[in-house]
Amino acid sequence: MDWDTEQVTSYFGVDPAEGLNEAQAAERLRKTGANQLSEGAKLSPMALLLNQFKDFMVLVLLAATLVSGLLGEYTDAIAIIAIVVLNAILGFVQEFRAEKSLSALKKLSAPTARVKRSGRWIRIPAADLVPGDMISLESGDRVPADLRLIQAENLYIEESALTGESVPVNKTDAKLPGGEVPLGDRKNMGFLGTMAVRGTGTGIVVATGMNTEMGRIAHLIQTTETMQTPLQRRLEQLGKILIGVSLFLTAVVVLTGIIHGHEAYKMFLAGVSLAVAAIPEGLPAIVTIALALGVQRMIKRRAIVRKLPSVETLGCASVIGSDKTGTLTQNKMTVTHLWTDGRRMEVSGSGYRPEGDFHCDGRKVTPGKDHALKQLLEIAVLCNNAALIREEEREGLLRRKQESWRVDGDPTEGALLVAGAKGDMTSQGLNRIWSRVKEFPFDSERKMMSVLVEKKGGKRMLLAKGAPDVLLNKCTHILHQGRTVPLTDALRSQVSRVNEKLASMALRNLAFACREWSGTEPASEAAAERNLVFVGLAGMIDPPREEVRDAIRTCRRAGIKTVMITGDHQTTAVAIARQLGILTGSGLTVNGSELQQMSDTQFQKKVNHIDVYARVSPEHKLRIVKALQKEGHVAAMTGDGVNDAPAIKAADIGIAMGITGTDVSKEASSLVLADDNFTTIVSAIEEGRNIYDNIRKFISYLLASNVGEILVMFLAMLAGMPLPLVPIQILWVNLVTDGLPAMALGVDPAEEDTMDRPPRDSRESIFARGVGWKILTRGLLIGFCTLGAFWVAYAEAPDDLVRAQTIAFSTLVLAQLIYVFDCRSRQSVFHRNPLSNKPLVLAVFSSALLLLAVMYYPPLQPIFHTVSLGFREWILVVSAASLPTLLAGMIDLFRPARRLAHG
Ligand code: ATP
Repeated sequence: MDWDTEQVTSYFGVDPAEGLNEAQAAERLRKTGANQLSEGAKLSPMALLLNQFKDFMVLVLLAATLVSGLLGEYTDAIAIIAIVVLNAILGFVQEFRAEKSLSALKKLSAPTARVKRSGRWIRIPAADLVPGDMISLESGDRVPADLRLIQAENLYIEESALTGESVPVNKTDAKLPGGEVPLGDRKNMGFLGTMAVRGTGTGIVVATGMNTEMGRIAHLIQTTETMQTPLQRRLEQLGKILIGVSLFLTAVVVLTGIIHGHEAYKMFLAGVSLAVAAIPEGLPAIVTIALALGVQRMIKRRAIVRKLPSVETLGCASVIGSDKTGTLTQNKMTVTHLWTDGRRMEVSGSGYRPEGDFHCDGRKVTPGKDHALKQLLEIAVLCNNAALIREEEREGLLRRKQESWRVDGDPTEGALLVAGAKGDMTSQGLNRIWSRVKEFPFDSERKMMSVLVEKKGGKRMLLAKGAPDVLLNKCTHILHQGRTVPLTDALRSQVSRVNEKLASMALRNLAFACREWSGTEPASEAAAERNLVFVGLAGMIDPPREEVRDAIRTCRRAGIKTVMITGDHQTTAVAIARQLGILTGSGLTVNGSELQQMSDTQFQKKVNHIDVYARVSPEHKLRIVKALQKEGHVAAMTGDGVNDAPAIKAADIGIAMGITGTDVSKEASSLVLADDNFTTIVSAIEEGRNIYDNIRKFISYLLASNVGEILVMFLAMLAGMPLPLVPIQILWVNLVTDGLPAMALGVDPAEEDTMDRPPRDSRESIFARGVGWKILTRGLLIGFCTLGAFWVAYAEAPDDLVRAQTIAFSTLVLAQLIYVFDCRSRQSVFHRNPLSNKPLVLAVFSSALLLLAVMYYPPLQPIFHTVSLGFREWILVVSAASLPTLLAGMIDLFRPARRLAHG
C-alpha cells in the first residue's frame, strides 16, 4: 500500500507497458498454483459408498440376515447380502454421478479476467492469473485477485463480501501510508471476490487463490450454497412420511402374518425386506440426477443454470421481461442514416466492413468537404471506447488473404467507428491529433457519455453522445447552416421530428454534441455536460433475431407473456416489438417518465396489459418485477448491467447475458444465456417443464409400484394366505424393477404438447394433476392383480407354493414393467409411442431378461425360490400383469373430466 507504482511493478518484475509474457506467467502459475479458493472437504467416494449402508432399514436387514445365517439359511443370507451390496453400489453410482454433474455445473460459471500479456490485452480464465499480472477492471467486473491499483478512474468497488460494508468504496491509485489498516480503508487495493460497480481501473495482481484476503477467511465463509431445490426439500419431507407409513404397514403385515400362524422369524425377514423395498430411498438421488441431466441438456441448448432451484421455477414462468438490444435483436449495428445541419444523409455498406459512402438527396458527400458531417463523425469516433479490429485469415487453396472486421467493445460504438472509417476518420488518425483528458462514462441510467479531449496545440473540446431526447436537453445551441446558432423551440422540434421519423423506421438513434472547453477540468458530469452545441443524429439498424418471432409465438401458446423492457426510444421499441409480435393489438406501451408518474396502484392496474416499456432505467425494472409478482406472476427477467442486478435478484428467474453481461449481473442471476439470445430462455423453460414432468413420472412409477408391493403382502396376510413373495424376491424387485426403469423415466423426451399448456402453479403439490390418482389406481390394481394371480395358482395347486410364488413374483415384475409406459404420458398409456424412449426400452428389456434368468437358470432358482413356468402359466401372468395398465388406461380414456385435469 505504501509503495509507489514503480516499487510495485519492479517488485513483481512486470513492465506496465507489456505485462507479463506467457513464459513468465506459466512459470509463476506452476509455483503459486491456480487462482482459486480451495473447496471445503468433500465426501470421498469411499465415504459416499459407506454412507449407503448407514440407512437404518438396511442395517436392520443386515442384522436380520445375520440371524438367518446363524439359523443355517445360508443361501438366503448370502443372496440378501449380495442384493444389499448391489443396491448400495447402485445408490453410490447415482449419488456419485449427481455430485459430479453438480461440480461440473459450478465450473461452468467460472469467472474470467482481462489481463495484459506480452503487450496485448486478452481475456483469460481468472484461475490462470499469477502475481505480477496486470489486469483491467471496469464497472460490472468481479475483482479476480488481490490487486494494487496503479490507475483508478472514478473507480468504486463494492466490498461487502469481505467487509460487510455495502456502500461502494471510492478507490485511488495513490500511495497510502502503510501499517495496520483495516481492509475497508485500503483504498489503493482491490480484493478478490469484490465487485467494481463504477468507473475503470488497472491493477497489478499481488496475491492469488488462498493467499488473498478472501482466501484467508475462506474457511469461515465456505458458503456451501444449498443446491437443494424446493421440490427436493418437499420430497425429503414426503420421504419421511412414507417411511412412517411403510414401517406401520410392514408392522401390520408382520403381526397379521404371525397371528395367522406364520413363523415369526420368516415374517420378520419378509417384513424388513418389504420395508426396505417400500421406502423410496433412491428418490432424492434420482431427482438430483434428473435435475442434473436436464441441466446438461440445457447447456447444450446454451442456457447455463447457476442455481439448481431455478430449474423448477423455470417450468412455472408465466412472464418474461426481456431487454431488447442483443437479446431480441442481433446487436449487429450498422449506421444507415445521419442527420446534421438540416440535411438527412444515407450511409451505404453493411456489417463492420468500413466501406461505404454518404449520400444526401442522391449526391455523394465527402466529410473532408463537409464541416458538419466531419464534426459529427469526429465526435462519434473520439467519444467512443470500442475498437475496430481488422483480421486477416489465409483461406482456400490459393491461400488468398481474407479480410474480416471485428468490434471489440460496445456494438453501438463499433457501428459509429465503422461509419467514421467510411469517411476516413479512424481512431488511430484522430488520436494522433487529440488526446483524451477525462471521461464521464456511459451508463444506462443517464443514457449518455462525454469525453474531454485536448488538441496538441492546447485547444480543448468536450464531446458528448447519447440518447437524443436526453442530449437535446443539455444543448443551448445547434449547428445550423454552417454556423452555431441558439437552439430555438422551432429548431428543437425539428430535431425531435427527425428523431421520431428515424425511430419509426426501427432505427436506434444517437445524438452528438460538443462545446469548446476552457479552464480547468470539470469536476462532475453535471458541470461538464451543459450548454452544448447540438451537432446531429445517427440512426442505426439492429435487425431483430430471426428466430425470436417463433419463440414469442411459442411462449404465447405456452401461456407465457413476453414484455420488452428497453432503454431505447419508444418509437424504435414499438417498431421492433411489432416486427417481433410482442406488441399486440390491445397491448400498451409505457415509457420511463410515464412510469415514474404512475402511482403503485395505477401501475398495478395496468401491468398485465403492458407489452413494451421504453426509455426505462434499470431501477424501473425492479418495480416492474415486483408489480408482476404481485399479480401472481412467476417472472423471468433479463439484464446485463450493474444496475440490473437488483431486478435480476428479485425476479423468480434472474437471467444474465453470457457475452455482454457484467460479472455483477451474472453473479446475481440464476440462469446465464451463453448466446445472449431470447430463444434460449424459451428452450430453458421447455427443458424446465420437461424435467419437472419427468420427476412426476418416476414418482408415479416408484410410489405406485411400492403401493402394489405392500398391498400384495398386506392382503395376503389379512386373508390368511401363505406369503405370496419371499424376502429375496421383494429385494430383487426393489433393485431391478424400481432401479433402471425409474432412472430411464428421468430422461424421458418431452411430450409433444409441453409448450401447449399453461405454466404450472408454483404452489401445486407434486401429486396434483393426476399423479396422486395414478399412484392410487395403478398401485391398487397392481396389488390386486398380483394377488389374484397368486390366488388362482395357489388354489389350483396348494402343495406347490413355490410355483404360486413364482407366478406372483413374475406378475408383479411384469405389471410394473408395463406400467412404466403408462407413466410417460399425462393422458393415457395409449397416447405415446412406447419406443420413443430408447433407454427405457433397454431398461425394461434388461429387467425382463433378468427376470427370465432368475426363473429359468437352474443355479439361480433355489436362491430366488423360483421354478420354470409353462405356457399356460404365462398366460395367467401376462394377463394379470397387463390388466392394471389396460384397465386404468381405459378408465382414463373414457373420463373426459379426468383427462382435462391432466392437461
Ligand atoms: P436494452 O435495454 O434493450 O438493452 P439499450 O441498449 O438501448 O436497450 P441502454 O444500453 O440502457 O439500453 O441504452 C439506452 C440509450 O442510451 C440508448 O437508446 C442510446 O440512445 C443511448 N446509448 C446506448 N449506448 C450508448 C453509448 N455507448 N454512448 C452513449 N449513449 C448510448
